[in-house]
Amino acid sequence: MTKEILVYPNPILRKPSSNVEEFNEELHNLLDDMNDTMLECGGVGLAAVQIGILKNVLIINIPVDDIEDFENTDGVQLKENLIEAINPKLVFSEGEQIFNEGCLSIPGIHEEIKRALNVTISYQDRFGEKQTIQADGFLAVAWQHEMEHLTGHVFIENLSFLKRKKFEKEWKKSQKEKGKK
Ligand SMILES: [Zn+2]
Repeated sequence: MTKEILVYPNPILRKPSSNVEEFNEELHNLLDDMNDTMLECGGVGLAAVQIGILKNVLIINIPVDDIEDFENTDGVQLKENLIEAINPKLVFSEGEQIFNEGCLSIPGIHEEIKRALNVTISYQDRFGEKQTIQADGFLAVAWQHEMEHLTGHVFIENLSFLKRKKFEKEWKKSQKEKGKK
């Protein structure tokens, strides 16, 4: 089922999430709802807090380019590429990359953010089995972005003071204009 995504600066987005203890039907429903919501909104990742559930749960699905259809340059998200991560922990990171990030909770905004280039993350899958993943590039960015949500933070908090100020001004203006419509 598709859920409503909380939009910045909703105060719930500032709250830290807590660990999942039970790997039951409720968790599976949450994961399925998160996937429906992410696909509906055209996102590549979603944290549970973004639909108001303060649990350490995130999903990621990086699109692949559809090479057979040259007309269609949009990325396709394959079900087999869906990552469902419960209680993720960063165990290693190195290097640096700058990536133009966006967020379903701050729609329409893209900002260049500095992240680690490589990460290793341990987590549990929907059945509670321990998993480890090594990621780099876009996938590493997605992991870092979604894990940041679980700590009660959003990506624009990484901007410099001046860029953040500029963002807040533009965001307030765009939200006001949206309200008028
Ligand atoms: Zn986000």
